[in-house]
Amino acid sequence: MIKHILTSILCLATLIGFSQEKIKVVSSASIFQDMAKNIGGDKITSMSIVPIGRDPHTYTPKPSDVELVSSADLILINGLTFEGWITELIENSGTKAKIILISEGVEPIISQKYHNASDPHAWMDAINGVKYVYNISAGLASIDPDNALFYADNGVKYNAEIKNAHNYIKNQIATIPIEQRILITSHDAFQYYGRAYDITLNAIMGISTESEAQSKDVQRVINVIKEKKVPAVFIESTINPQMLQQIANDTGVKIGGELYADSLGDEDSEASTYLKLLTHNTDVIVNALTGTSIKRTKIDSDDTSNNLWIYVGLGAMMLLSLLFLVVKINN
Ligand SMILES: [Zn+2]
Repeated sequence: MIKHILTSILCLATLIGFSQEKIKVVSSASIFQDMAKNIGGDKITSMSIVPIGRDPHTYTPKPSDVELVSSADLILINGLTFEGWITELIENSGTKAKIILISEGVEPIISQKYHNASDPHAWMDAINGVKYVYNISAGLASIDPDNALFYADNGVKYNAEIKNAHNYIKNQIATIPIEQRILITSHDAFQYYGRAYDITLNAIMGISTESEAQSKDVQRVINVIKEKKVPAVFIESTINPQMLQQIANDTGVKIGGELYADSLGDEDSEASTYLKLLTHNTDVIVNALTGTSIKRTKIDSDDTSNNLWIYVGLGAMMLLSLLFLVVKINN
């Protein structure tokens, strides 16, 4: 008897469990996985096909990726030639998932180097990130309308944080003197960042990492470093730093730090989320190109301006007292 009751309870619990099953969201890359997590909260499980630290341009899907995609409810892809391998993966998986192009609505940058290709790295401009968030929350609402308000609300809150990050980047990059605002990286992932935050770009490789850099590309970058007296170049978390290290050795410039463009960093890193990626990259760039520490400069300059106002206030009070005294004596 007890056994029957226990079995019934177990069945009921399983049924309830199934009815509350989370929406399975599969993103092509870790940055979008993090965006989805911020919007979907505990209503979804958010997963990425390309693991953290791997290069999404050159990724080769594994058999387990076919299973992952086939069991998804929602698939988030960047498009703009970022994950060229994903169309075949989706076809092979036979998935019934809804597919959302999360870069919908951004103004694409057309590649100068490749014919008919768009630069995929639109998320590097935080205002494009805001558009990604709208697209993801609308996608979630379309397959789970009962929680549409929840997704919309989370999207609005998350976007407020992204806009704060946008203002932070804008203000910080503006502290670099315009002639020093030259960003040299391994691959051309910062064009949207450069357009939004007014910094000139130069990269050894193109907007994809699929083709090898040629010696003329290396020479072009070396010429820019020498002509413009660029103080630092930047390696990227998903790309072998060997070539940039060679350039740094040959020209005597330093490696300004590691930037994150196509992948988040792991949990312990300074770029473990999309928001952290944006601000971390900016801090590294500003520190290396100005040769100062941002946080220190910011606090110092705030202190100086606060002190200035205190002195102005005290001076005004003393003048008024003196005036009052003079008037009183004359009377
Ligand atoms: Zn890239």
